[in-house]
Amino acid sequence: MTIDRHMNTCPICQVQNHHLAVTCTSCGGYLQNRSENLDLFATAWTIIERPVRAFRMIALSRRKNFAAAVAALAGIGFAFGIFWVIGAGEYTSSAVNLFAAGTLLGPAVGMTVVLCFTMLVKAMAATQGSAVSVKNAFAIYSYALVPVVLSVLFLLPVEVIVFGRYFFFLHPTPYSLRPVAYVTLVGLDTLCALWTLYLLWAGTKVLLDLTWRRALIIFIVPLLLLVAGIIGGLRLVLPKGVS
Ligand SMILES: [Zn+2]
Repeated sequence: MTIDRHMNTCPICQVQNHHLAVTCTSCGGYLQNRSENLDLFATAWTIIERPVRAFRMIALSRRKNFAAAVAALAGIGFAFGIFWVIGAGEYTSSAVNLFAAGTLLGPAVGMTVVLCFTMLVKAMAATQGSAVSVKNAFAIYSYALVPVVLSVLFLLPVEVIVFGRYFFFLHPTPYSLRPVAYVTLVGLDTLCALWTLYLLWAGTKVLLDLTWRRALIIFIVPLLLLVAGIIGGLRLVLPKGVS
C-alpha cells in the first residue's frame, strides 16, 4: 500500500482515510475532533485572523451553518460589480431601481457562482486523482467570500450614498465627478477582491491538503473559466456596443 500524504491513517487499524474524514471507514474509530455547528461571527472572525484554521474548522463541522447565507450576501456584491463593469446606471433613471435590482438578483447570483466554482474545482481535482466533497467545498468557498460581504455591508452603501446611480456609469466616468472618493472606494474594493483571491487559494489548500503552489493551479484554472463564462454570458445578453 502506498502512503499518500493526502490521507489520514487510522491509529487503530492503520486503514487510510480522506484527510478531512472524522471517523475511520473501516473500524469507525475517531480520527479527529469535529464540531456540530458553525457560529457565524466566530467563523468570520477566524477567517480574518487565521484563514487556514478557519477553513479546517468549516470542513470538520457537521453542519455548514450560514454558508449559503454568506454566498447569497456576497452575491449582492457580484451583482453590483457586474453593474459597475457594464455601466448599468445608464439604463435606469433612479438609483432606487438599481439598488433593488442588485439586492434581489444578488443572492441567486452568489449561490450559483459558488456552486459553479465548487463543481469546477471538483472536476479539476479529479484530474489530479483527488476527491472533493461538494458540501465541504461549497461551505469553504462561501466563507472565503467574507471580504465581499464586508464590501457589500460597508462600501456599497457609501458608494450609493455618495454617487447614486452615477457610480455605475461609463459616461461620464464616476472618476470625473469625484476623483478622490472614487479612487478611495475602488481601491478598498480592489483590496477586498485581492483578499478574496487569497482566501479562495487558502481554502483550496485546506480542501485538498496541498502545498500552496499546487493549490494555486487547482483554484486558478476554475476561476479563469468562471470569469470567462460570466464575460461570455454578458456579451450574449447585453445589447451590442455595451460590452
Ligand atoms: Zn480504523
